[in-house]
Amino acid sequence: MTQVQTVLGPVEVSALGPTLMHEHIFILTADVQQNYPEEWGDEDQRIADAVSQLRALAAAGIKTIVDVTVIGQGRYVPRIQRVAEQVPELNIVVATGCYTFDEVPLFFSRRTPQVEASLGRAERDIMADFFVRDIEEGIGRTGVQAGMLKCAVDEKGLTGGVDRVLRAVAQAHTRTGAPITIHTHAASQHGPAILDVLAQEGADLSRVVLGHSGDVTQPDYLQSMADAGLTLGMDRFGIDHFASFTERADLVIKLCQRGLADHLVLSHDYSCYLDWFPPGSLDDLHDWHYLHVSHDVIPYLRAHGVTPDQIDAMLVRTPARILGG
Ligand SMILES: [Zn+2]
Repeated sequence: MTQVQTVLGPVEVSALGPTLMHEHIFILTADVQQNYPEEWGDEDQRIADAVSQLRALAAAGIKTIVDVTVIGQGRYVPRIQRVAEQVPELNIVVATGCYTFDEVPLFFSRRTPQVEASLGRAERDIMADFFVRDIEEGIGRTGVQAGMLKCAVDEKGLTGGVDRVLRAVAQAHTRTGAPITIHTHAASQHGPAILDVLAQEGADLSRVVLGHSGDVTQPDYLQSMADAGLTLGMDRFGIDHFASFTERADLVIKLCQRGLADHLVLSHDYSCYLDWFPPGSLDDLHDWHYLHVSHDVIPYLRAHGVTPDQIDAMLVRTPARILGG
């Protein structure tokens, strides 16, 4: 049996159950928070808040989430361990990778394969080695192994830094077999350029999620990406700033009608705490929480002709195929 790594250890892929493939627990700017901790406040309260929201999610029937928080988003796995220990009924898969829309973090910018070679060492990208370490040995000193790789290709497309991260992610994928999720700016339609890089690096496209695909309402581009083998992340339910509830849900219905249910996964891209926006500025997103898919999206899809088998594909079978291989 294939196993998937979670914060609390490996689980059988058959035990993953209904899965949300793109969530967060905490997104923050670590060095700002270390120096200006007032907004974050009490660590125990933040953890208790996440625990209560995730317990409610598990009670709603979701068995697994992928927390796709990586370098650049304040990933801190000891904190996630404290949460996971208090919600053992929910599998939490954590990720490795790097989140940037343009340049790589300065740590990596001069640690290039060329510089390594000039110093007489093997010509390889330390970034890919870090990702492999997170997957094979565990993150930091936690022993928690990452179960997914993550990068971002936003509106600017494949800048030098973004291209490097995408290639490092693809190389770590081919070395370890871990699946990939890619934040995209759907309206910019960078999918073909992403496919070119993935093909050059020999990635298995059936293990790659094209994230935030539901931010656009134009299905033909998305179908071409699914036809190429990618899975489409319909994964920002509740973020009405890019597309409304009905636009997002009706797009899922349309893609299901085209026979693509096996190429869709559902999620919210929610986070219990996110310091990229001032407090209160996201309060208009009333449906942006972990329960929206379970309470609102699934009933709407069912009422509009999406079958139980198609919902099973989006929530259970396709996540298991991607995570488990
Ligand atoms: Zn996200």
